Amino acid sequence: MNKPDKSDYLSTGLPSLKIGEVEIFWLNGGKIRLDGGPMFGPVPKVLWSKKVAVGEDNCIAIDNSAMLLLTPTAKIIIDSGIGNKMTAIQQEHFHVQEPWRLLEDLERLGITTDAIDFVIPTHADFDHAGGLTRHDNNGTPAPTFTRAQYIFQEKEWQVVKNPDRRSATSYWPENFSGLEEGGNLKIINGDLQLTPEVKIFLTGGHTIGHQGIEINSQGASAVHLGDLLPSQNHLHPLWVIAYDDYPMEVIAVKERLLPDYARRQSWILFYHDTEICAGRAQIGTDEQTVTFSTTIDKA
Ligand SMILES: [Zn+2]
Repeated sequence: MNKPDKSDYLSTGLPSLKIGEVEIFWLNGGKIRLDGGPMFGPVPKVLWSKKVAVGEDNCIAIDNSAMLLLTPTAKIIIDSGIGNKMTAIQQEHFHVQEPWRLLEDLERLGITTDAIDFVIPTHADFDHAGGLTRHDNNGTPAPTFTRAQYIFQEKEWQVVKNPDRRSATSYWPENFSGLEEGGNLKIINGDLQLTPEVKIFLTGGHTIGHQGIEINSQGASAVHLGDLLPSQNHLHPLWVIAYDDYPMEVIAVKERLLPDYARRQSWILFYHDTEICAGRAQIGTDEQTVTFSTTIDKA
């Protein structure tokens, strides 16, 4: 397969956004359904059910849209979807609606797994880390992106290695198999300016070592806050999810960061939203309320 040149990427049909010199593509990391209650934590159903379609089983649709960043010097994957290692029981438990198609989507862009330079998991929950590894020819889980450096916060990796009882339900060892042994692991502490355009920063909140990603290029900017902001319905600082390990931290980070990004008219990138990939933030006259002036919609 011939590699498409940059201008051909747009013909792939994948949602995309340009931030200066950085191109962002959203890849299908699998679609699941989860109970809507925990997805809105303390928010009463009478309020959240006005915003999302809820089934008779009380479940709502959850996308897992991994991102590919093409910078002038690097190919970067942010989060990795549910992967293809789930057992039949797990697939039933998490109501998998669409399988992991991340590799097919990459192929549509003419990009192979060994062309990826960096993988940035926002955190280690299975719905973000499932695609970090895949079964090799012997059926053993091994790094999906063989040449890439996988970047974790030290605090997060410590929980991966020694999960407490609650984290263990979502941090599955097979999602990290071979990363240390293969030399693919890069552990950081706090902020890292990864490329001139891409910065990683520690947020905490959802998990102890949860990290966000900021993109700045040619005066434009975007931010990915991972599960601190799983969907457009979580913009209100108090709309947090029950899976947050430290909800008060999530509220504080959202209150501190979101108005700032909105004043700069940054793009906010989404992983779990089923309707939009990103929204361009704007600040209300109260200098607090954040809304979107325009959005990148899903197909
Ligand atoms: Zn998640």
